Amino acid sequence: MQTITSVFEMQTLAEDLRSKGQIIGLVPTMGALHEGHVSLIKLAAEQADTVVVSIFVNPTQFGPSEDFTKYPRALEADVAACEAAGADIVFAPTAEEIYPKGYSTYVIEEHIAKPLEGVSRPSHFRGVTTVVAKLFNIVRPDLAVFGQKDAQQVAVIKKMVADLHFTVDVVVAPTLREQDGLAMSSRNRYLTATQRIEALVIHRALRKAAGMVAAGECRVDRLIAEATHLIAQHRRVRMIYTSIVDRTTMEAVKGEIVPGKVVMTIAVWVDEIRLIDNELL
Ligand code: AMP
Repeated sequence: MQTITSVFEMQTLAEDLRSKGQIIGLVPTMGALHEGHVSLIKLAAEQADTVVVSIFVNPTQFGPSEDFTKYPRALEADVAACEAAGADIVFAPTAEEIYPKGYSTYVIEEHIAKPLEGVSRPSHFRGVTTVVAKLFNIVRPDLAVFGQKDAQQVAVIKKMVADLHFTVDVVVAPTLREQDGLAMSSRNRYLTATQRIEALVIHRALRKAAGMVAAGECRVDRLIAEATHLIAQHRRVRMIYTSIVDRTTMEAVKGEIVPGKVVMTIAVWVDEIRLIDNELL
């Protein structure tokens, strides 16, 4: 496995691999890798001849008051994890390499990116679509793997791929969870033991809604009321949103859900740590 930091080198190598007929799979990450990321790399390895994992804490997807400087960085451990998971190349550029002085071009998806995360993180998806478009141009992958954990990100990337005629196949991997149900996240390492216990209510609320749907309850207001009620019992957990949306458009569903077409998404603050999770209903 090799680690590359230069855009030119990555582009040249990817071009060479493509000319030899290799199927290239890309797994974009911000590093601080956990088992969730590892499952994405393994899925890419099943479908591609060469797997490229990008590790880049993308400054443009963080708001001014967010945790960019504090975001965990662990390149050495990440490179080892990539190799163990079956990656062939780690692409770990510097911020200056991706956004050189005077950089001024951005990719903006204008609808799906607006609700949910877009409300409290207004420039977040502009950063995501910009960096993912750049990674697609640098690596020119045949397929790219994203986690269902970030349901809105999946919907936004799929729309960008369609709108901008990228020929990348977007593969979605299921959310990996800790044994107690907490969705794996690089930000979980910020949680104290007490906060971590409080955070479990997110998955409990999602499972409660899924259970209600399984029992025949399809009314959106009932499903959201139950989830909200559970979350409200936790003093340190503040709800940012609980919403049931169409999986493709991320538009809020009104009235009754059609099971199999929607996703319940939750974002909360556990003290100062922002966590998101979702459940397909
Ligand atoms: P990040 O490093 O947080 O930007 O995540 C990189 C990729 O890993 C994204 O496609 C995420 O959706 C995905 N991912 C993050 N957490 C999980 C998880 N618990 N299970 C599956 N995929 C995940």
